[in-house]
Amino acid sequence: MTLIPIEHYEQVKRTAGSTAELLVVSKMRSKEEIMAYYDLGQRAFGENHAQEILAKKDLPSDIQWHFIGHLQRNKVKSIAPYVSMVESLDNLALARVIDKECAKIGRIMPCLAEFHLAVQDENKTGLAEEDALTFIEEVMKLPNIRLEGMMAMGPHTDDREEIRRVFTHGRELFEKLRNTFGEQFHILSMGMSDDYDIAVECGSTEIRVGSYLFY
Ligand SMILES: *Cc1c(COP(=O)(O)O)cnc(C)c1O
Repeated sequence: MTLIPIEHYEQVKRTAGSTAELLVVSKMRSKEEIMAYYDLGQRAFGENHAQEILAKKDLPSDIQWHFIGHLQRNKVKSIAPYVSMVESLDNLALARVIDKECAKIGRIMPCLAEFHLAVQDENKTGLAEEDALTFIEEVMKLPNIRLEGMMAMGPHTDDREEIRRVFTHGRELFEKLRNTFGEQFHILSMGMSDDYDIAVECGSTEIRVGSYLFY
């Protein structure tokens, strides 16, 4: 009995192909489970709690931790040295704190703007689309943040056509923003365990898969 379902990992990697990077979402998973993926060559992992990243910081230093959850401003200082990207940037106050804390430690933080695309969802995290241009223009003025693209979630539904509609719309927004802001804006992070295959078909460049990759 292995620690991880390797056949699921191979299947997700195959679907991602050369178009999408795989972020293994390791929230609430043990160091042993993470190391099982590390030993397969996986380096990019996603976490959504500051305390959990700090608890895992003794794992190999070439692990790239992506912060994908709601980030409180008072947690930025503690995680800034350890994360390689913040994918959940959705307000300017947070962006300014990240910029300030990164200036202190002499680094630039790659970030993604998180958008809320699924109109009917009650769980509204992320920026509204109509705020995209103003938000990104402001963030791009901050010297210690490099905005590399956008993150979005699919709708909470089993209706695959509805998911496809939302992801297609996400891809269109991404292309519009990339045309406006240039090649620096190159990452589109969408797709999770239940919908990563649709996301890849719709042009996602990064999928964030958790539960499907663990027992
Ligand atoms: C938990 C989480 C994921 C992974 O979800 P699964 O359904 O377990 O694959 C992806 N993105 C974010 C932002 C998450 O919080």
